[in-house]
This record gives sequence, C-alpha cells and structure tokens, in this order.
Amino acid sequence: MSSRRVPLRPDPLPVAVVDNHTHLDIRRDDVPDPVAIDGGGDRSTEEIAAALRTAVEVGVDRVVQVGCDLPSARFTARQVELHPGMLGAVALHPNETPALAAAGELEAALAEIERLVAHPRIRAVGETGLDYYRTGPEGHAAQQESFRRHIDLAKRTGKALQIHDRDAHQDVLDLLEEEGAPQTTVMHCFSGDREMARECVARGYYLSFAGTVTFKSAGDLREALLEVPLESVLAETDAPYLTPTPERGNANAPYLLPHTVRGMARVLGVDVPTMCRAVSDNAERVYGPW
Ligand SMILES: [Zn+2]
Repeated sequence: MSSRRVPLRPDPLPVAVVDNHTHLDIRRDDVPDPVAIDGGGDRSTEEIAAALRTAVEVGVDRVVQVGCDLPSARFTARQVELHPGMLGAVALHPNETPALAAAGELEAALAEIERLVAHPRIRAVGETGLDYYRTGPEGHAAQQESFRRHIDLAKRTGKALQIHDRDAHQDVLDLLEEEGAPQTTVMHCFSGDREMARECVARGYYLSFAGTVTFKSAGDLREALLEVPLESVLAETDAPYLTPTPERGNANAPYLLPHTVRGMARVLGVDVPTMCRAVSDNAERVYGPW
C-alpha cells in the first residue's frame, strides 16, 4: 500500500523567505497533489492563490514562478499580474529546445519568450542551460545555441538569468565564460561539488539550493553549500519535484520550503532567522522588490 499523502505543514519560519524557483502550473499525477482544489485540467487561479496562502502561513510569502515552455511561460505572465507574492521567470527549458530546433520553431519560440520577458513582473530569464542527463548528444548543439540566446536576452533586458545544469557542469561554466555572464546569474538547484561552488562564488553567481540538500545521500552537496557565503545563497522548492526530507516521496509545493531552509541553516551552522534573512535579502537583490 502506498504511504503517499499530502504532506503536513512544517512549523512556520521566524522570518519570511522567498521560494526562488517553483512550477505552480505543473501537476504530478503519480502522487497526491497538495495544490489541487478542483482536480484535473490547467491550474486555476484559485488553486494558485490557495497554494500561495498556505505558503505564507509557514513563512514563505514570495515565490518566483518559472515557466519553461511556451504554454507555461504564457501562464506565468498571466499569473504574476494576479498575485502580489509572485514574480516570474520565463525561458525555453534545455530539454524543450532540441525538438523546437528540429521542427524549425526555435526562432519563433525565442521571439515570444522575448516578448514575455518584457513584462515588468517577469524578473528573470530561466530556466535555461544544459541538460545532458535527459537529452542525448544529438541534442547538445541545439541546447547550447538556445542557452547562448537566453544569456544574450538576459543581458539585453537587464533581467537575472536562472540556470538549469544537469550533468553538464563544465560546459555550463565554459559557455557562460565565453558569452560573458549577465550581471545577475543564479544557479538553480545547484548540483555541483565544492570546487564548482567555489568557482561560481568567485564569479559572483548566486547558488540556489533545493530539497536535495536535505537528502541523506547528499553529503557532497552539503560540502558544496559550506563553500557559499551567506550573501550568495538562495533556497527553492523546484516544486512539484525534489520534495525535501522528511516528505520525500510526496509531491512538493512552496509551503514545504521551511524544511530546506532549516536544513541549510544546520549545514552552515547559523540560526534559522539568520538563514531566513539571507535567503530573503538575496532574492530581493536578485529580482527586485515584489
Ligand atoms: Zn525547474
């Protein structure tokens, strides 16, 4: 019998924080959905509002909603107008770009992303980057071209860049160096080692940690976190994925971020209010005021 359920609310955080990266539009059908009110179909505005209220009650009062294909980017641009606690990021996810390129649709899709990024409440270009885990070598050239274009877009618009990097650490770093990184660059769901963390900090990037940092097996990631000064750190859910301990196996949502923030405070040896203030202040510096 499955033990999967909608996770309990954690104790509220003492200082309100930001969820740096969440996908409130994505439903999972393999586990009970903590955001659902009315079942299937596209997420309703009421469901999003309720999910944000639940998060506020545990001290997560601001989120960055990430739209990573065209339907989800359009959804994000609509929803950021309706919820004061929500800012947005839009891009074409690296796992989306090979198919778009093969269909001859990449240019048109990039043009639409550029229009959506101009929205005053869309504050980041993301998630873009490289994913060599889900995409084979035949798709790498398209991913790299798309990544370059997104870097350029972030620089031209002055928005932050949110990077997805899965099993592509060196190429991500090399490509950023070649192109010249935007003023504000965020490694979303950081998954590198100590050495890579040091390199990212030296370059002035922000490192955002997800629920993975609480996993028992993630000793290397906690070592990497130790390399990151408080002024460079962010926290995120990447909901509905990467649910933190002790709720692994259930679906993730922004109200579960306190588990990750408390885990990060333990690793860094700081008290929870200090951790919260760092996460909150850094996000406001990256994205501007909500
Ligand atoms: Zn994501």
